[in-house]
Amino acid sequence: MKKKVCIIYTGGTIGMMPTEDGYAPNPSAFPDMLEKIHDVSLPTFPEYEVVCLSRLLDSSDIRAEQWCEIGRVIRDRYDSYDGFVVLHGTDTMAYTASAMSFILEGLDKAVVFTGSQIPLCRMRSDGIDNLVTSVLVAASGEVREVCLYFGGQLMRGNRATKVSADDLEAFASPNYPRLAEIGTSIVYRRKFLRPRAAEPFSLVELSRVPIAVLKVFPGFSPDLLLSVVRSGVRAIVLEAFGAGNIPTGELLAPALEVARESGTLIVVTSQCGKGMVSIGTYAASSALGRAGAVSGLDMTTEAAVAKLYYLFTKYPSDTDTVRRLMECNLRGEVSVDE
Ligand code: ASP
Repeated sequence: MKKKVCIIYTGGTIGMMPTEDGYAPNPSAFPDMLEKIHDVSLPTFPEYEVVCLSRLLDSSDIRAEQWCEIGRVIRDRYDSYDGFVVLHGTDTMAYTASAMSFILEGLDKAVVFTGSQIPLCRMRSDGIDNLVTSVLVAASGEVREVCLYFGGQLMRGNRATKVSADDLEAFASPNYPRLAEIGTSIVYRRKFLRPRAAEPFSLVELSRVPIAVLKVFPGFSPDLLLSVVRSGVRAIVLEAFGAGNIPTGELLAPALEVARESGTLIVVTSQCGKGMVSIGTYAASSALGRAGAVSGLDMTTEAAVAKLYYLFTKYPSDTDTVRRLMECNLRGEVSVDE
């Protein structure tokens, strides 16, 4: 029997058309663009249905509301399809893929994120291979997790990060191997794939959780940190230098202490992309350790943001549980044993 894949179009370059204001998504033109792709009409191409989100977006405008909408589309069709492809703008694709990996609890099918740098309506569009290969991955029955296929690379969704605004290989997975070798054939690297889900499938609808992301830089002012803490956020993802270091001479320690006293969780990720945060390795991170900051280990900032939304939705008044789970491996987003 032919495999069935649900293609969810959320917006993004892949289906955009030129307008007077620049490229913008176009719901009525998209199904037609898809049908014009040669491979889509081949008899071996899986059966598919296209679902467009209620409002197509440049992914810069994606918020938790859209993550829930995508989640509901998948939940409502979960038993009717072998897999799902989510067409999404590249700018925030890694955030959305990370969020879906958490909110789709017990996921036992492939949800493949992809998009393109050049729209399908233009010559040399990378959207053709990105879309066709993603549909094949979604239909394969090999993958049981949220992944991201782009520029010939299949990556775990919550390990991916956008690294180029113009290369066709726009994403990297610096801290986790690729999930398949994709050449003339697709060879899955099974030892890197998620195992069968142990729990039944369900969707967690995210609630509004105020959080912030701050990037440390030479001259980073404690007042900046304090103003964010005082704005009432539940957590701050602090993108620190290297292994989790911050300036020591800028009176950041008292500001971190204010964060701790007000119950604001500080999660430390690294600006490096590749490698592990290790609070306490250098004296330059000791103030973070004393203030009870959580190590993001080798999580991407995108995954840390998505995980905070998810955990504060599940445990809204239990910061200690959120703190503990941030350092645990929930969906393969971090390199510690599950
Ligand atoms: N600005 C676009 C978006 O993220 C870029 C893209 O799709 O590649 O929606």
